[in-house]
Amino acid sequence: MTTATLFTRIINREIPADILYQDDQCIVINDIAPQAPVHMLVIPRQPMPRLSDASQDDRALLGHLMWVAGEVARQHGVDDAFRLVVNNGEDAGQTVFHLHLHVLANKGSDQTFSEANL
Ligand code: AMP
Repeated sequence: MTTATLFTRIINREIPADILYQDDQCIVINDIAPQAPVHMLVIPRQPMPRLSDASQDDRALLGHLMWVAGEVARQHGVDDAFRLVVNNGEDAGQTVFHLHLHVLANKGSDQTFSEANL
């Protein structure tokens, strides 16, 4: 038996999180240690360690995650300016090995993205 990832445990409600959006394929939560005024994580229900582990069969899911990122950006009023980040692998800064998209936006800040070093 494999151990459930942190994000699977959040999806299963074993660990609390601010759930902002959910559907049959993914959930969106607030990052617990935000790097920007808006910092959301788009997480597929089906765990996949890294983006580079995706197969051809995962293409529709990956497209859906991108659409959801845009949708939650719209819902939070940051669709004019946000960044989408995927850390792939430990050397790229990945710490949770369950694929997730970071949605980062500077809402309410006077800083530009480069000034905020995002
Ligand atoms: P990464 O470094 O790309 O793997 O991103 C993992 C992200 O998960 C980090 O930004 C963490 O702050 C975030 N994180 C870790 N634990 C939790 C949690 N319990 N709830 C929400 N976000 C979390």
